[in-house]
Amino acid sequence: MLREFDPWATSDIKDYDKLVDEFGISRLSDDLAKKLNDNKYVRRGLIIGHRELDLYLNHAESGKKISVISGIKPTGIFHLGSMITAEQMVYFQKKFFNSALYYSIADLEAYMDNGQDLVTSKKLAIENVADMLVMGMDPKRSVVYMQSSALLVSDLAFIFSDDVTVNMLQDIYGERRFSLYLSALVQSGDIFLPQTKNFGGPNPVLVPVGADQDPHIRLSRDLAFKHRNDFAFFPPSSIYHKLIRSLSGDEKMSKRNPDSMITLADSKADLKRKIMAAFTGGRITIEEQRRLGGEPDKCPVFDLYLYFDDDDKEISKVRSECLAGQRLCGECKQQVLEMVNLNIEEHQSKKIKMLDLADDMIQKGNELVKNNNL
Ligand code: SF4
Repeated sequence: MLREFDPWATSDIKDYDKLVDEFGISRLSDDLAKKLNDNKYVRRGLIIGHRELDLYLNHAESGKKISVISGIKPTGIFHLGSMITAEQMVYFQKKFFNSALYYSIADLEAYMDNGQDLVTSKKLAIENVADMLVMGMDPKRSVVYMQSSALLVSDLAFIFSDDVTVNMLQDIYGERRFSLYLSALVQSGDIFLPQTKNFGGPNPVLVPVGADQDPHIRLSRDLAFKHRNDFAFFPPSSIYHKLIRSLSGDEKMSKRNPDSMITLADSKADLKRKIMAAFTGGRITIEEQRRLGGEPDKCPVFDLYLYFDDDDKEISKVRSECLAGQRLCGECKQQVLEMVNLNIEEHQSKKIKMLDLADDMIQKGNELVKNNNL
């Protein structure tokens, strides 16, 4: 198994083209990119590919029922990496009136993998869901639930396990603790939840995820095929975004290294400390920077523009000034700090008003996934 496609590790993907080719991921065609031109990640080349996105979009455009699904291990406040997945989910829900949104909070995985108790997971889940509400998630068309409450999801995992051998899981994930294999099956249960009779399925689902999560999609697509006579589930469609680099420049932004990631709860002092210490694509001396220009494509500070700034023109201005040596890293960091500060401050003030609604949504979601009507 390629190290790059390890969904549980801190991945450092250097060659997305190689990954796309090796695992048979489809590139975004011009036609699909045009349909999603209002998505900033598509416009900025941050989407590396998809699996059967057209199936989801065809149903979406014909007004038939569709769903978007993803989840999170609730071990902290949203950082930029988790924010991207959440933003993508909200984008697809907003774009299509017929798209429901399902969000699984993997509290059991957090218990198993991080030793975090379920009460702490619930508190963090409320924070995460409130973040999504600020981003524009429609509570009326969304089901949010804790994995520990979802009998329906664990029943699906149990049924799927009948068709899965250790060899098959090793092929996809490599040799792992059995708990991780089990958690992969439970994630498949999450992915198929919107397609069960309880939720009016089957219907196409889209899973927006970071590129390192493709093994879960491949497993789920395989399971849909194996169980086509029992459930007639559609194989899940997926859309993959690039992983955001940590501020140290060399790995995916991860909760395991708090000072190299931006979170939506960071104070002004935190942001200043982190951004001012960030690695850049700048040269060693000012003279060299003026002469050779900087390297924005290697620069985590430039990434902050790409992921945070809504203004495409400003981003291309920063890029061309950097390449031409007209911009120095100190002033660039100062500018990005102001932009990020503004965004996060606004987000935090809106979020306070969303916490009760988030709690309420989780309680309602837990009730909906308790019963099994397979
Ligand atoms: Fe990065 Fe800005 Fe320096 Fe260019 S000028 S390398 S974008 S920090």
